[in-house]
Parts: sequence; C-alpha cells; structure tokens
Amino acid sequence: MSKETITNIKIEKASTSKINEVDFSNLAFGNVFTDHMFVCDYENGAWQEPQITPYQKISLDPSARVFHYGQAVFEGMKAYKDEQDDIWLFRPKENFERINKSAARLAMPEFPEDFFFEGLNTLLKLEKDWIKKGFGNSLYIRPFVIATESGVSASPANKYKFMIICSPAQSYYGGEVRVKIADHYSRAASGGFGFAKAAGNYAGQFYPTSIANKEGFQQIIWTDANTHEYLEEAGTMNIFFRIGDKLITCPISDRILDGVTRKSVIAMAKDLDIDVDIRPIKVTEVIEAANNGSLKEIFGSGTAAVINPIAGFGFKGDTWELPKIENSFASKIKQAIMDIQYNISEDKFGWRVKV
Ligand SMILES: *Cc1c(COP(=O)(O)O)cnc(C)c1O
Repeated sequence: MSKETITNIKIEKASTSKINEVDFSNLAFGNVFTDHMFVCDYENGAWQEPQITPYQKISLDPSARVFHYGQAVFEGMKAYKDEQDDIWLFRPKENFERINKSAARLAMPEFPEDFFFEGLNTLLKLEKDWIKKGFGNSLYIRPFVIATESGVSASPANKYKFMIICSPAQSYYGGEVRVKIADHYSRAASGGFGFAKAAGNYAGQFYPTSIANKEGFQQIIWTDANTHEYLEEAGTMNIFFRIGDKLITCPISDRILDGVTRKSVIAMAKDLDIDVDIRPIKVTEVIEAANNGSLKEIFGSGTAAVINPIAGFGFKGDTWELPKIENSFASKIKQAIMDIQYNISEDKFGWRVKV
C-alpha cells in the first residue's frame, strides 16, 4: 500500500481494486461499496487528522455509546458523471449543513466544512471509475457520524467517528408503490428529532412498515402524531399531492425532514409554471379528491429516486387507486432535475457543483 498526503488528508490507497468483481448492470441498492472510505475521529474536544483508507471493518468497544443510545446521524447524496467524464454533485452544501443540524440535535459535535468538502472531493476523485456514465447511474454517498466512546453512561459521548462510504447505484424501477396512511403509529413528534437524519428515526419505522408490507403496501405516509389528520412525509421521502393542477406539500417542521429534493421539486415546479401550495394537507382532503376524481398524482421526493410516483394508497382498511396519466408533473419535474444533475441542461439555479 502506498502512502501519500494531499493537503491535510492522509491517504492510504487500496492495493487492489474490487471494481472488476462488480456487475454494474445488476446492482442492488447499497450493497456494494467502493475501494476507499473517509474517516475522521473526534477526541479531546477536536476533530483529528482526516484520513482516506481502504474500505474496511472498524473495531469498536461493545459498550460504545452508538450501540446503546443510538447517537448516530447520516446523510445521503449522489455524484453523477456526464458524457465528458466530469463528476458533479447536486446541492452538496445542503447535505453538509443538514448533517450538522442533525448532529447538533443529538448533542454531537459539528463537522468542519473544509474537512467535509476536501474529504468528499478527494474520495470521489479516487473512486471516479466507480461512477458510471449514463442517465440514472450514480454513486450514492453516505456520510455518517457515530458515538464511539466506550461506557454505557447515558450521556453524550466525548468520542465520535465521522465517515464517508460510497456505493454505486443504478436507477431502478421498483415496481408500483402503494402507501398506507398511518392511523396509529407515528414517526416523529413535535419537539422530537424527526427533522434530523438520525439512525433511530429509521429503526422506529421498520416495525410499522413491516405490518404495512403484510397488508400489501410498500411504504407508509406518516401523519401528525397528535391527530393523524394531517399528511406529513413518507419516512424516506417527502410527499407531494396533485389535486387538479395544483401541487401541494406540507410545510417542514421539527417532525419533518427538510429534503434537498423537496426544495428542488418546489423550485423546479414553479419554474415549470406549476402552481405549488405549501400548506398543511388533511387526509380527508386527499380522500375527497380521490373520490371526486381531482386527485391526479401522489409522489415522493428523495435523493435515491428523485421522484417516486405512487400508484395507490390505503387508509383505515379502504384503498384508492390513482389514475395513470400522461405527462405527469412527476415525470416532467424528475426529467428537469435529472437533466441538471447529469449536466445535460443549463443550471440556472446553481445547484450543480463540479468535483
Ligand atoms: C433523507 C430523507 C428524505 C429525503 O431527503 P433528500 O434530501 O431529498 O434526499 C425525506 N425524509 C426522510 C425521513 C429522510 O431521511
């Protein structure tokens, strides 16, 4: 293994690459990781020397706080390659700012901006061959922070590990998605940490989602925890409703993840002259619209799929199917955002950032 130093990041290169073992035409999401990872430890009140090392296992004491109290936050972002082999990120500053917002809510130290971007850019340059050209291909990037200090005292740790790992991704069609509107379980409460990309928010969804899966739904649309009357988000995606020709999504709050894709969908829809209403939206309003035929589309927004159209929904035992329409808002907005991500169209919003 060769050692070299680029600015302040210590790089230890993998002696061999796994890339030839990977079938890029048949990737399951998030199962294969690239040859390297970025690691930076926090101790003695400061982030230590950042490093890039071969992708490898890490060793932690069984009493490490992350295992007991779930002090863990993460991000999800993507890198795209254009036809000229240039690599692009999409609004990466949003992800950087959000991981620190998430960290602050879980009493974790914030990560420095220069470490984040230098680490990310250096890692992506090393892994450039893992980013494949072609619409829909990308490299999924997973920055995360965990509490590594040993000892099971229920208090914030004094030691953390910030890491970035990367996984090649394809655009895939996961079949038709039907969602269950939550009427009992909740994902987040007011004053809680639903707005944070915290590991525990996901753990808490797995059981209710497994029940919904058995009932024939792929995902849950979460409602407000107090009344279950208002539609909030889909747990890995923000959610949009098209009633007539109006696109409606609820405002963000401390219960809702402020998605980068959500913001981009809102801005792009406005740019495409689509009316966007950001306001609380009631379950009864959506059911009424489904019954009178004015509910045209429901879709989720998130980094993984950009936009995920929803084919139908269920609530308290009843189900509704959505019409199949041509030229949907979902497809128009998705195309326009992906054209920016892949450096196909002009980026008047300034969203695209070159690596
Ligand atoms: C990550 C995430 C989203 C989508 O956010 P993007 O920034 O658009 O990827 C939506 N809801 C939850 C709960 C999430 O964790």
